[in-house]
This record gives sequence, C-alpha cells and structure tokens, in this order.
Amino acid sequence: MKLKQPDIKGLSNTKKNADGGGKITPMMAQYLDVKQRHIKYLLFYRMGDFYELFFDDAKIAASNLGIALTKRGKLNGKDIPMCGVPVHSSQTYLSRLIKLGFKVAIAEQLKDDSQDVNAKKKIFKRDVVRIVTPGTILEESLLDSRNHNNLLSINFDKGDISLAWTDMTTGNVKLQRVKGLSIFRDFEEVIHKVEPGEIIISEELQKSEILKSKLKFFQKNITTIPSSFFDLKNNEIKIKAFFKKSRINSFGDLTNTDVTTIGALLNYLELTQKNNIPNFKNLEIINKENFMQIDIFSQQSLEIFRNYDGQKKGSLIEVIDGTQTASGARLLREFLKSPLIKKSEIMVRHDLIEAFISKKICLTRILEILPGIPDVERAISRVSAKINNPRDVIAIKVFGEKSLQIINEISNSKNTVLKQLHPSIGVVKNLVNLSEFIKEKIVEIPPLNLFEGGVIRKNVSKELDDLRNIKINCKKKILDMQTYYVNETNINTLKIKFNNIHGYFIEVSNKNSKRLNEFDEIKFNPVQNTLNSARFQTDELRLISQKIENSEKKSLELEVEIYQEVIKKVIQFELDLDAISKTISYVDVLTNFAILSLKKKYSRPQITEETLIEIKDGRHPVVEESLNKEGIEFTSNDYNLNKKENIWVMTGPNMAGKSTFLRQVALIIVLNQVGCYVPAKSAKLGIFDKVFTRIGASDNLSQGMSTFMMEMVEAARIIDQATNSSLIILDELGRGTSTEDGFAIAYSILEYICNKIKCITLFATHYKELCKIKKKFPQIHNKTLEIKKWNEEIIFHYKIIDGISEGSFGIHVAKLAGLEESIITKAKTILSHLKKQKLTEFPQDNLKDISINKQESKNSRIIDEIKKLDLDNLSPKDSLDLLYTIKKNYLENK
Ligand code: ADP
Repeated sequence: MKLKQPDIKGLSNTKKNADGGGKITPMMAQYLDVKQRHIKYLLFYRMGDFYELFFDDAKIAASNLGIALTKRGKLNGKDIPMCGVPVHSSQTYLSRLIKLGFKVAIAEQLKDDSQDVNAKKKIFKRDVVRIVTPGTILEESLLDSRNHNNLLSINFDKGDISLAWTDMTTGNVKLQRVKGLSIFRDFEEVIHKVEPGEIIISEELQKSEILKSKLKFFQKNITTIPSSFFDLKNNEIKIKAFFKKSRINSFGDLTNTDVTTIGALLNYLELTQKNNIPNFKNLEIINKENFMQIDIFSQQSLEIFRNYDGQKKGSLIEVIDGTQTASGARLLREFLKSPLIKKSEIMVRHDLIEAFISKKICLTRILEILPGIPDVERAISRVSAKINNPRDVIAIKVFGEKSLQIINEISNSKNTVLKQLHPSIGVVKNLVNLSEFIKEKIVEIPPLNLFEGGVIRKNVSKELDDLRNIKINCKKKILDMQTYYVNETNINTLKIKFNNIHGYFIEVSNKNSKRLNEFDEIKFNPVQNTLNSARFQTDELRLISQKIENSEKKSLELEVEIYQEVIKKVIQFELDLDAISKTISYVDVLTNFAILSLKKKYSRPQITEETLIEIKDGRHPVVEESLNKEGIEFTSNDYNLNKKENIWVMTGPNMAGKSTFLRQVALIIVLNQVGCYVPAKSAKLGIFDKVFTRIGASDNLSQGMSTFMMEMVEAARIIDQATNSSLIILDELGRGTSTEDGFAIAYSILEYICNKIKCITLFATHYKELCKIKKKFPQIHNKTLEIKKWNEEIIFHYKIIDGISEGSFGIHVAKLAGLEESIITKAKTILSHLKKQKLTEFPQDNLKDISINKQESKNSRIIDEIKKLDLDNLSPKDSLDLLYTIKKNYLENK
C-alpha cells in the first residue's frame, strides 16, 4: 500500500483559470501558490488561530478527522470547500492524519510581515515551514516516548546495500551495509531491527522487483524520493557540511553507496524540515560482528519484544523493563537488540549493577529521582529545530536540576565503580550554569507557544518590565474609563471590549447607540454595528489602545529576543546535555537491572573464556513471573553444557516443560550478554556469538511458506551461520512433514552439528529413536523431564533428568484438552499397534482409515456434483450458489 496522498483534483486548472482573469482574492492567490509547491501533502494553512484546509485537502481531512466541511468564498463561481482545526489542539489532528498515512505540510504566517506596523491591513506572508511525515515527527504528543522513531534511507548499488537511519529526535545517524551471500537475509534483519517509521528509496530503486519483495511488509512506510537526492558529488559535500568535517573519510571508510544513502537522508530532512533540522551529533557505522547476533526468528521465538500474538504482554521486555525515563526505555531496547560479545564490556555493566546493589541508599535515592527526569534528547532536538515551545526549555532546566541530583548521589556513594559514571567536572559545571541561566530567565510554567508572551520572568529586563507595567496601567485606565463613560452617559450596560480588528472599543446595545451618537460632551465615533450592538471609539480610547498594542508588540519582541539568547546558550551546551543524557539513560537501565536482581533474585554470572553453560537453579524469567502471579512456584533446574557435553537431545511428554526450558537457556545467555544479571542461583557462562532458536511451528503463510518450508528455511540459515561459539536451540524440527522425512532430516542435522559446528545445542524431539545417535557421538546426552504416572494421570515435575522419555503422551494431553472419548479410545488402540512396529513402518492403511474416511467420502460427493454440471449453460449466479452449497454442506465443520 502506498502512503495515502491527497488527490487535489483540478487544482492546477483552477490556478490557470484564476490567473487567466477569474476573480481571486489575494489570500487565495497566495494559498494556491503555496499549494502548487506542496501538491503531495495535505496543507495546513495558518489563518489566525486556525489551520485551514481548502479544496480536496479539506474534503479528505474533514472525512478522515470527522470534522465539519464548510466553505469559504468562491473560485470561478464555485464554492471553495474548507475545514479547519484550532492551532492549540492541532497536534491531535495532525497525529491522527500521520497515523492514517498522510503527510502534512504546515504553512505558517511568517514573522517579517507581522512586524510591519500596517500588517493588519495587508495579508500575512505565509509559507510552509515544515512537512510532517511519519519518519520526521518531532512533537512529543505524536511520538511513542519509549521507542525510537527511525527514518531509514536505502540504496542498492553494484551488489552492496547501504542502510542509513536516524531518529531525528535524538540527532544520531547510523549506517550499516550488507553484502555477500547473505545480503538479503541481512538486509531484512537490519530493517526489522531498525523498525523504521518511514523508509525512503529512490524512484529508480522502487522498480527493483527483488527489493519490492523484501520490503513487502513495510510497503505502507515507503516514500519514494527523486533519484537526484542520491547524487554522489553533492552528497559528499553535504555530509561534510552537516557533520562539520573537512574529509569524508573522517567517518571511516564510506563506500559510494554509503555516501549516497546518507546524503539522501539529509536531503529528505532538508525537504521536510526546511532550515530547521536538529543538529546532528555523529555518524555511527554499525558492524554486526561487534554484537551478539539474534535474528528475527530467534527474537520472535524467544518473545523478547513481543509475545507470539504480537503483544508486549508476556514478553521478556515486559518483565525486565522497569526503566523510569523515556530515554532509558529506548536504551534498554537497544541493549536487547544488540547484546555484547566482549567480556570486558559485559563486566562493566555487571560491575555497575553490583555496585548499585551494594549501595542501597544511593540506589533508592536515584530511583526516587529518575521518574521526574524529562526526555531531554527530544527536547533538545525540538529546540535546535526551532520549534518554539518554551516548555522544552523548562524540560531542559528540570533535566539539569534532576540529573545533577543523580550525579551528586553517585559522588556521595564514595564507590569507585559508580564514580566511573560521573561526567567530567567541566560538563557538570556547564549543566549547572545552563540550568541556572534558564531558571533566571524563563517562568516556571510558560505557555506552549513563545508568541503568546509571558515566557520571560520579571526582573530579567527593565525595559520588558516597564513595557508590561505600561500595559497594566493602561488596562487599569481602561477600567476607569469604562466607569467614567457609564456615569457620564448613564448607560449601565456600556462595556469596553477588545478584538483584533478594532483593538479596544466601546460597546452598547443597539437601543442605546442613538444616545452615544448624539452625546455632546464626549465624541463617540461609531466603528461597527452588529446584530445586537453598536461599537464606538473615542480618541482617548484609541490612543490608549494603541499604547497597549505597542507595548504588547514591543514586549513580545523583547521576550523573543531574550528567549533566543536562552536558546543560543542551550545549543552551545548541546553536547554536554547529550553526554549527561546518555549517562542518565545508562544509570536508568543499570539501576533497573539492579532492582530487578534484588526483587527477583537474579544473580551475577561468572564469565568464562570457554563457551559453556553452568547453571544452578535456573528459571525462565517470563514463565516464572506469570506462574508467580497465579501463586504457582516455578521449578528451577541445574544444568551444565560444555565442550565435552555440548548436545542434549531432549525427549519428554507434551506439556512437560521442554519449550520453557529451551527458552530459559537462551534467555539466560541473552540477559547475561545484555549486561544484566540472570534468573538463577548461580551461573557460569561463556560468551556466545550468535543465538539461534527454532521453537515450535511458526507458520509464515503470509510469506507464502508452509510450516515445513519455514522450518527448513530457518534450519538452513542456522546450519549456514552457526559457529562453534553459537547456541543452537531446536524444538521439534521436522514436524511439518511425514514422520520418516522429519526423522531423517532431524537425524542428519544433528549429525552435522556434531561433526561440523560443534556448538552447544539443545535439541528437543518427539522422535525417541533419535536418542540412539548418542551411541555414535559421546558428546550427546539424552535428557528428559521427570514425570510421575498415577493411575491414568501424569504428573509433571518439570525437572530435567538423564534418560529418554517413555513417550510423548500426546493422547493424554488430547484427553486433557477435552477431545471426544471415542477418538481417544481409537487413538490408544492405534498407538499400541504402532508401538509394536518400527518407527518408520507406519500402518498407513489404519491411519487413513480413521482420519481420512469421512472427508474422503465428502470429497467424492463434491466431485460428483461438479461432474454433473453443464458448464456451458451455467450462469455466474448459479455457480456462486453452487460454491456456497458445497462449502456449507461439505467443507464447513459441523
Ligand atoms: P512442552 O514444550 O514440553 O510441551 P511447555 O514448556 O510448553 O511444555 O510447558 C507447558 C507448561 O508447563 C507451561 O506453560 C508452564 O505453565 C508449565 N511449566 C513449564 N516449565 C515449568 C517449570 N519449570 N516450573 C513450573 N511450571 C512449568
């Protein structure tokens, strides 16, 4: 699906007609000019306190937002459709349109004309100041604070693909290139990791069939941009200018494809943000080899970010994310997407957790301060993008104050490990200065819009205070004037009011207007008559009105000037703010890990050089949590896997806890390398370069693959990529095909892992015969889950023991699930028959007998019905009816 774009039907004709002599107001001429240049976007056109939309834009917005469609004026004899949204609540509407896939151009009244004394009489100059697209949102209300919103640019040239992305609100650009044999697989991996809000590709690239198929799931996020945005020469210059570098190689080796990809990203930002692009701090080149690799499938089967239904509930992140700040939450997600592979780096995180745990007072205090810390990363971006919301500046001040409290706690802890988190004295000083500077200048709760005034504190500027006093005095005078006029004219209902057209004026009912018109002592000049009232002005009132207006205008100018000074200072300290923000997010994640470990009894793993797993009382973090909620205790397990005993073939009844155990092992490995403690009494762990998990049957019918095909694709990938430092977890491989096929494939894969890959592998299977492979390979161990049989019942103990399961007890589970008794009895008979034979010699006829008979007879009746048809004389209606009949009678479950 393409991003929905408004179809401004007939607009260009309208413009032509208008130019060609049709009557057109200056405002409409101006609108049409702006719209012509932004034809692809919904145009929010600022008219006073409203954003108005016209023509087809109005129709689209009105129907999508459920607001009234009206009209304003005529063009060539036809009404111009119009709708509008108030500026103060425009974000809600904007957010709804962006979520629906629209892109919105925002045209503002531009400042230079408003400074003109006669501005009121002329029309304001207006132009687009920003285009809001899904990947370039800056507004807090439009963003998910705990997730990054990435804009991704892709280019594909001579067998290399470069991907460059930025979360504009945090001012960093990242680049990753993929190439070689696994190019498209890696390409998909990166896209899933980036989770882009919007993807930009060139018109030319859009035609590539292969890319189209790879981007199938992101179709609605794609924006096509002109191929010229990817020009090499111009982009080299642009990148250097953007990052303030004299040489393109300062970033490391960038290929031409990299340069064009990053350049296109910057070009698109220029197109959408005009001159107000937030400052970019750095360009990071990502090398996947520097992190543990967990591919999309494994991430999904381990339910790291989402459960199988795509919900956060029941995922690992739901259990371990107790971060208190938005940027901390974003950092934790990054950690989970890219676990570490360097022992020293993992240990830094472990050391810090240990230190926080040992300094409980410090930990408690920090946890009290963290929730009040604003999202400074995003606030700075909005400030540097000149979105004039003074609350962002206050957020920076509050961030400064609160993060200084945290830094103080760290200093006071007198812990050498924690002190590593302390920013340099210079940075801290700058932060103190900046916070104080903002505090001195800006009021505690400023308005959302700078131009409303009232942003700057008293006593900051004498001139501003004087101007404000003039206004206050004048307003007092106006009140006195009103009393005076009431007394003089004897009209008790006389009021002095204000509007943007007349300034201050006197209002009386129509009944009393005659009296004012004929009043001799004071000259009341009529200015306007409305349905119920008449409006007047006096020279005295006009003068005072002008005085107020001038002082308001001047004080607003002064406020803007002082505010700009503050902004300048903020931008000057941007890098310091960024550094402290990173520290605070890091502290947030690590204190979260510390508290998690304390509350849930996680422990610090010892990291070994050898790739091994030694766990005492290991638990599955998510299953444990959900069982605990129901008051059930999770059964922990001890296990050792190492070079000598690197493969476990696990058999066991259904529901015995195999999958839970397999996932537990993988999650413990991931948590360790994220730098977190692990859910176990003790753990000794080696470092794994990749984790592969194939658990359960994950149909991917939407990709046109059957369960079995999907299994084989995943198995092929694992075999291809795993090294002897990887962890492989396979659950029920070979299930989606015939038993013989499945068994043969499972056996061969296992043998290959033993001979070639030699990594730690857990292989759960229902093929008991597979356990015989142990005879050939001493490093293989057969494990099962302990159960007790009691009468007809099975009791699960969830304990891993040596041995081979007696059976899968599938029929038992079917019975528990409530399958009809006659079927259960029949199944038991067949099972006892099968048990007498070898695995590969199934009584095919018997099986056919029970499962296929019923449907087969139905099928033959369908065929009979079709045979009877005289196709040449069958109407479309009859054929449809027949299809309904077949479906209803033979194919629907009854
Ligand atoms: P299998 O893969 O063998 O069919 P599962 O791993 O899906 O079994 O486990 C089935 C259910 O058993 C889980 O949903 C959970 O409620 C329970 N279970 C699994 N492992 C444990 C355990 N170690 N302690 C307590 N309950 C467990």
